[in-house]
Amino acid sequence: MARRATAASLACLLAVWFAPPLRAGAAHAAGCSRHAPEGPGPRSPQPGDVAKVQSELARRLAGVTPPTQITVPTVVHVITRPDRQVSDQAVEAQINVLNSAYAGRFGGVDTGVQFRLDAITVRENAAWFGDPVGHERAMKSVLHQGGPGTLNLYIAQLSEHMLGFASYPYWYTDAPVLDGVVIDWRGLPGGAMTNYNRGFTGVHEIGHWLGLFHTFENGCKEPGDGIDDTPAQAKPTKGCPERADSCAKAGLDPVHNFMDYAHDRCMSEFTQGQAKRMHEMWAAYRQAAPGAMRR
Ligand SMILES: [Zn+2]
Repeated sequence: MARRATAASLACLLAVWFAPPLRAGAAHAAGCSRHAPEGPGPRSPQPGDVAKVQSELARRLAGVTPPTQITVPTVVHVITRPDRQVSDQAVEAQINVLNSAYAGRFGGVDTGVQFRLDAITVRENAAWFGDPVGHERAMKSVLHQGGPGTLNLYIAQLSEHMLGFASYPYWYTDAPVLDGVVIDWRGLPGGAMTNYNRGFTGVHEIGHWLGLFHTFENGCKEPGDGIDDTPAQAKPTKGCPERADSCAKAGLDPVHNFMDYAHDRCMSEFTQGQAKRMHEMWAAYRQAAPGAMRR
């Protein structure tokens, strides 16, 4: 689920972590392997994989009522060089953008998901800062906090080929310490990353953390991204088109969806189906088990 950067590196932007359901893994587009997060190897989700995720989700949801509102406790880890690049105010601005995006204030639906900033940790480590992919396990082993329902958001410097990457909810059991989202500090609101500095990389990657696939997953083939109200899309959106219609099936490409790859200024929405899926994934994988609080 690494999110894209420059148009020239679109192959790398396709980089997606994926493994058959319930196993931690990483997948990466050819040519980006040096940036590949930890995991067994390159692979993008195939139609059968999306179907497997959906059937396992349905099995886990039997008799379970997903929550109507989710407040995600969030811990932000700012990795720095000797000079700190990201202020507390910048972190707060990112959280505000998350809350606006997930509330539908840029467009689309109110997803019923909000984020509560519980803590900011600051860690000076030039190696982690410059290569959070290569040092992923070391960094997260030291810094990761909480359980499956705590969002650990790491801010460091990725590469020109990758703006962020995230883990899926169903990876948690196999690799709890690797759970979380890593984003590039230059993509925060007002950051230096041209076309990607409204904080929407965080919105996109956290969408994966909450269980969403890309809208272009599987191209025009069934089951696409497994969401009914995001029409099939042949490939990731590049730049900022007003509209596109790349598949013969009904519906225009969801080029303004946060789970596509458009420039930040052209992203504005989640759909009702995506909101529902996030709540289902939360109930199945991230919220505390009903018996967890019993003594
Ligand atoms: Zn992604």
